[in-house]
Amino acid sequence: MSQRPGQAGAPRAGPHCKTTILESATVCPSCRHYLRFDDKAQAVETTRALQVEGEIRHPAEGGAWEYSVVLTIRDDDGQEVSHQVVGVGAIHPGDARTFTLAVELTPTSDMRRMPKRPNSRSRH
Ligand SMILES: [Zn+2]
Repeated sequence: MSQRPGQAGAPRAGPHCKTTILESATVCPSCRHYLRFDDKAQAVETTRALQVEGEIRHPAEGGAWEYSVVLTIRDDDGQEVSHQVVGVGAIHPGDARTFTLAVELTPTSDMRRMPKRPNSRSRH
């Protein structure tokens, strides 16, 4: 990741679970532990901008199904920013799993713009 400390999107390791989270986070989105309590941080409002949820149910015939949960993040030009397997497992006959994707947005005061790559799509 290219963001440096203090910039919008700057990452850090969560102190409890070591998941990569935002430097600005007041609550760890992974383990839900509180990270700090200063007034300035509490004024920031995080909204859930996107949530997608779906259930996959095994019809109770045949063998178990194996699954891989793959998450891909792309920028405005379609380039992959991140591509990772976030979980694997099995669904046994008659069993089900529910998968939920949530994107939480937090406004910042960082007014700088990231420089566009030279090969990025032109917008004329
Ligand atoms: Zn955590």
